[in-house]
Amino acid sequence: MTLLVIDPGHGGSDPGATYKSFQEKNFNLAISRMVRDRLVSKYEVDVVLTRDTDKTFSLKQRTDFANTIKANFFLSIHNNASGGSGFETFIFNGTVPNETVQLQTSIHNRIAKDILKKYNILDRGKKRANFHVLRETKMNALLIEVLFVDNEKDLNLLQNPAFIMDISTVIGDATAEALNLPLKTKPIEGTLYKVIAGSFSDRENAEIHLAKLMQNGFGAFISTTVIDKKTFYRVQTGAFSDKKNAEALVEKLTKAGFESFILVEGDAPPAPPPPPVPDKGYKIQGEAVLTAKQMDAYARTINPAAPDVAELYLSYSKKYNIRGDIAFAQALHETNFFRFTGDVKPEQNNFAGIGATGGGARGATFPNASTGVLAHIQHLFAYASKSALPAFDQKVDPRFDLVTRGSATTWQALNGKWAVPGTTYGQLILALYKKMVEFALREVEKERNTLKTTIENLDNI
Ligand SMILES: [Zn+2]
Repeated sequence: MTLLVIDPGHGGSDPGATYKSFQEKNFNLAISRMVRDRLVSKYEVDVVLTRDTDKTFSLKQRTDFANTIKANFFLSIHNNASGGSGFETFIFNGTVPNETVQLQTSIHNRIAKDILKKYNILDRGKKRANFHVLRETKMNALLIEVLFVDNEKDLNLLQNPAFIMDISTVIGDATAEALNLPLKTKPIEGTLYKVIAGSFSDRENAEIHLAKLMQNGFGAFISTTVIDKKTFYRVQTGAFSDKKNAEALVEKLTKAGFESFILVEGDAPPAPPPPPVPDKGYKIQGEAVLTAKQMDAYARTINPAAPDVAELYLSYSKKYNIRGDIAFAQALHETNFFRFTGDVKPEQNNFAGIGATGGGARGATFPNASTGVLAHIQHLFAYASKSALPAFDQKVDPRFDLVTRGSATTWQALNGKWAVPGTTYGQLILALYKKMVEFALREVEKERNTLKTTIENLDNI
């Protein structure tokens, strides 16, 4: 399989080009990640990033890495600065194989055709330079300078999530086309009997089931299949060319308490599921009605030592159009009013039980409360919406990609998804939220009475 290294330029202590509060490294990472996602979701290819976080790596570390893993192609993503506007690509200005020139031409021209025209971006041309990452890589290497961070028109585009999605998709497709990557469909060779122990519409549920199987000594993995435009996650425990072996495994699974079935490769796909019905219940998206003061005060009626995190909830959730006040109620529910009496410990800053799947699993840890809250909001956003993250927000929720995007738009629809098993999870959160609103209303009435008495006293003077 073709192995591709994508290199998001700069990172960590090296911001690259900067302008106002904008840093090139963040644009590079956002685009690189989306290029990777496009490639691995659509083509037969392995993609590795030189950095998937905001960490410092030297140029030598990057090229050594690509050389060591013997990548087939190295794609470095940068953005430009210092007076100019537009798009350009670079290959090494020394001796390079013809193939390198062809790849540059093919990728550059496809981007010019599909993106530069559409967004009226200046094509600065196919260039050559003595850059470290182009010179020291043993494979074909291309460096893309997407746009200029210090040009207002370019910067406007870089801040537009639709543009970022668009350019990333086209960079991915252009690379796939240039490298002749096959589309992701596996040809069927002979008859194969696959043993499937569960099929899920939600990746997270499939993972939990997979973990249970592994704990019981069954080797398994998750394979995806698309039926009627909907993705399903199958937990596959084996594949055999002899049907008897498949049947023996089904019997073993049954004895261990797992339901399973045999899927004959080449079978007609199962009947498509009924069309999706809209989620019933109270929406996850929308504007909060409570204030941070009211929320923190309510938390402290139960736990006087509760931290002041309501403001973080409100400010992050506003950006994501999530009901921050209800998310806060969910945090109260998950952490038992920040007393952390379950598997998650206070120092994890994990207010939503992300990755704490029960049985003592402690789940994710975040460096501070702010990141923990953002991860919580992002996890809700993953369920409630199919939109991309707001431009250049780091994806801090480690389980974001495990969620079927848009699969729960109401709190009640989180039942059996956020909490497994769970048939009243959303209802419990909303009941707790209602108590919080009732508390706030009483407080407002108290304040109102104080103000009224004040007026009366003034009138009586
Ligand atoms: Zn750069």
